[in-house]
Amino acid sequence: EPALYLVPTPIGNLEDMTYRAVRILKEADCIAAEDTRNTKKLCNHFEIHTPLISYHEHNRQQSGEAILERLRSGSRVALVSDAGMPAISDPGYELVQACIEEEIPVVALPGANAALTALIASGIAPQPFYFYGFLNRSRKEKKKELEELRKKDGALIFYESPHRLKETLALLHEYLGDRPIVLARELTKRFEEYIRGTISEALEWASTQEVRGEFVLVVEGSNEVEEEAVWWEDVSLKEHVDHYV
Ligand code: SAM
Repeated sequence: EPALYLVPTPIGNLEDMTYRAVRILKEADCIAAEDTRNTKKLCNHFEIHTPLISYHEHNRQQSGEAILERLRSGSRVALVSDAGMPAISDPGYELVQACIEEEIPVVALPGANAALTALIASGIAPQPFYFYGFLNRSRKEKKKELEELRKKDGALIFYESPHRLKETLALLHEYLGDRPIVLARELTKRFEEYIRGTISEALEWASTQEVRGEFVLVVEGSNEVEEEAVWWEDVSLKEHVDHYV
């Protein structure tokens, strides 16, 4: 029976590969990988001998069509990205959509993901949360995005590359104010650390050293809504409000 398997891979620590992920990769007819050389190393480690094909941002049209063709002819295809969950700030979504359209089963395996790992250890209220992934690279677009995010009342989760971290923190400070933030660095790896504080403190941290490694940013949500609620109580209009809501 054909199926597209979405298989998470470790974000740093090979022990985070699941038993099921290994089995599915072994049993699949082929593995579609973002970077075949990278995935080859993972496969060698787990003694997986399934053929690899390439599926990434830049060949996703053509390669996606070839993958669909394999699925139509009955193959089981496993999709992996370089790290973590496929389709989360990584290629995959379009392939999933195409499979659903053609009634090809899609099977997602749970597993490693940087955003959720950072969120649950951040100490920032995890519900609701808003996963944004990467902000736009252009400064102008970034500002527009942050303007939109300013009023969101849940935790905000961003991915950011180390060489853009400082600039992004400066913009977060400017647009969101000096809120609590946690920088989750090198998760599951040897030098894993959490830098906790306000955005201005995080900016200072990033300014006083060469920033290296992989980062997830978890920012506390806007408290504008809460302040509004307090105001209603203050003026004791509660009974009146009840009539209107
Ligand atoms: N699909 C992946 C997932 O499920 O988390 C995310 C892929 S995205 C292209 C890569 C970004 O994820 C990095 O730039 C970084 O922001 C974040 N990331 C991945 N691994 C990480 C780690 N070990 N520690 C901290 N952040 C990580």
